[in-house]
Amino acid sequence: MSESLISSEIDFEAEGKHTGFLRLPHSVHRSAYGRILIPIVMLKNGSGPTTLLMAGNHGDEYEAQIALSKLSRELEAEDIQGRLIILPMANFPAAQAGTRTSPIDGGNLNRSFPGDPHGTPTEMIAHYIEEDLFPMCDYFFDFHSGGSSLYYPATLLRGLGHSPEESAKLIELQAAFDAPYAWVFTSGGGRASTARTAMGGGNRKGAITLMAELGGGGAVTPEILALTERGIKRLLHSTGMLPAYVPDAAIGTRELMVADTIIAYDNGIFEPYCGIEDEVKKGDAAGAIHFPDTPWTPPVTLVFQHSGMVLCKRVPGLVERGDCLFQIAKSLERAGLHTG
Ligand SMILES: [Zn+2]
Repeated sequence: MSESLISSEIDFEAEGKHTGFLRLPHSVHRSAYGRILIPIVMLKNGSGPTTLLMAGNHGDEYEAQIALSKLSRELEAEDIQGRLIILPMANFPAAQAGTRTSPIDGGNLNRSFPGDPHGTPTEMIAHYIEEDLFPMCDYFFDFHSGGSSLYYPATLLRGLGHSPEESAKLIELQAAFDAPYAWVFTSGGGRASTARTAMGGGNRKGAITLMAELGGGGAVTPEILALTERGIKRLLHSTGMLPAYVPDAAIGTRELMVADTIIAYDNGIFEPYCGIEDEVKKGDAAGAIHFPDTPWTPPVTLVFQHSGMVLCKRVPGLVERGDCLFQIAKSLERAGLHTG
């Protein structure tokens, strides 16, 4: 184990189903020897791969927190082949508060990897996941949504892989998850990567790593929750860890790469001219930013610089300079190449 000050109530080598907490020492005014208790579930049954399922990396992303809680209650060790670790509220203080970042230290867990064993609580969590959990993992699946400010359709995110074998595995798992869309990262993400995300950490430690964006807007939709629950079981089945599960017929996944990000240059109220999954053309008006504080001032119109599909859209109406308003994605040019 690493030099982490976080201790696990669970013995990761013990067979059977185990529930408990990761204990993060947190000494504050009202609790001198206090702990932050991060819930964790582990199921181990015989030989097989180790998979980490994670949600609550950002605390305002809810579908997978629900899906992993259901899975924690539903699965027994005998349903599993191998070792399944479930971490439904990874940045627990953020998840408890329903905020993207931690109210304790302002930390964004998904920008804190590889973390610091003696840093802030968020940095300590990142370090524990990277140094204590990832080295056990053959697979790491990190489930997100657009959070409070963005909305995505159900979208798998993956890299190209670091070898032909990993590329093939990622494509196989993408097909298994069967989200309507996959956003394929076509550059970066090498094993020596300094990426600050959990995905970067998983890659550094050699786990087969996938992410997903599943809805958002600080809400839960039944449709996307159903796709999330189905997709997680299909992933586990594909790794051989959930042998008795029978996947239904696949719907199919459209592979995309992000072509354009529209950002605001003005503070005001944003009027979008299109919605999620709409096809837009270069030169089309994307929307307008209005200034009701000086209502005689004409709105600023934003224009798409690339053609493609609206993959992600800002949810709140109020915008500030630098906010992301849209991501536009186009079909992946068939690369299929690993990054070496
Ligand atoms: Zn997120």
